[in-house]
Amino acid sequence: MGSVGRNLTKTLHGGRVSDWHISDWPFPCGHDSDRLEQMKDSIAISILIFVALLLIVGLYLLISGWRGRRVGSEPRCRKCGYILLHLTSARCPECGTTISAPNTVIGEHQRRWGRATTGIILMILGCVPMMAPEVRNNNWYRYLPASFVLRGLDFPATFQKSMWELERRDVLEKTLPESAKQKLIDKLLQKQVELSKSPTGHNSLVYLSKAFMDGHLTESQMELFLDQAILATIAVRPIVTEGDHVSFSVRYTGSIPPGFSPWFWCQHKDTLCKHDDQIELLHRGDSSSFRLGSLGNSHELSVPAGAVGKHVIEIESTWTIWYGAFRDEAGSRKLDTRTRTIKASYEVVPR
Ligand SMILES: [Zn+2]
Repeated sequence: MGSVGRNLTKTLHGGRVSDWHISDWPFPCGHDSDRLEQMKDSIAISILIFVALLLIVGLYLLISGWRGRRVGSEPRCRKCGYILLHLTSARCPECGTTISAPNTVIGEHQRRWGRATTGIILMILGCVPMMAPEVRNNNWYRYLPASFVLRGLDFPATFQKSMWELERRDVLEKTLPESAKQKLIDKLLQKQVELSKSPTGHNSLVYLSKAFMDGHLTESQMELFLDQAILATIAVRPIVTEGDHVSFSVRYTGSIPPGFSPWFWCQHKDTLCKHDDQIELLHRGDSSSFRLGSLGNSHELSVPAGAVGKHVIEIESTWTIWYGAFRDEAGSRKLDTRTRTIKASYEVVPR
């Protein structure tokens, strides 16, 4: 774990100040010190130079062995190889080519199989060091332009590696251009919900959340970030028997990973329930709250089932996202308040 050992003081949007310890920055890939990185690079580069030499020598032997050489001192027809000695005509007796200096060669052509085979063996051997962990695991992304590394985010196989490299450039080296940072933020916003469900998405979402609090997001990016920050869903048993109660559960989860304190937390309340065109005010007392990145909250509600047939339940919910100490409204900064209607449908069947 590399530790820069420096405290960065960041100003939040509203002028609140919090300390972010960059040494806390989670780099799960275990970023090494620069010196160790350079040593690993030089080992990997030495191996690659060795491989390149083997391939060049191998290719030379293969080509020269295949082209072969001429053996003997007798003149021969260039076209058919007939020995042009003791002739009476000015043409080759075998193929009829006019005999002239350009049409004549000396000696017989022979391929040099030993040389060509040696070349092939050298080239095969040359590929073996490429499998060395020093070469395969070396962080070659370090040498690629940001635009290329960004493209790696589009594929699951290279997502994590690309993300680490972009974070390294941005956070440790501070060399990531602003345009690349904007593209990175856009790509992470596209995947915000997906990443929150993935065990490997944590790091990327921490990065995105910090970028948000640091003021690196544009207005529309901030809007999208907050819009996706809370997921509210409603689950209902699809088939209910006539005369029973319909139980359903309302669930809130956050698409922001667990963080340090202060961090994001959410306060939510179901305000209205609309069922069969009847609107009911929900009196559930105080709002519930949860830390974003925790499992979230869910609660059960129930209403009497309607008549036989299909029905829709709508719940209107209001939530507020805070940044600060959990459940400390006075000491937290209010980031966003939203109201949203979530729906589920069920069917009542005769008893
Ligand atoms: Zn000939």
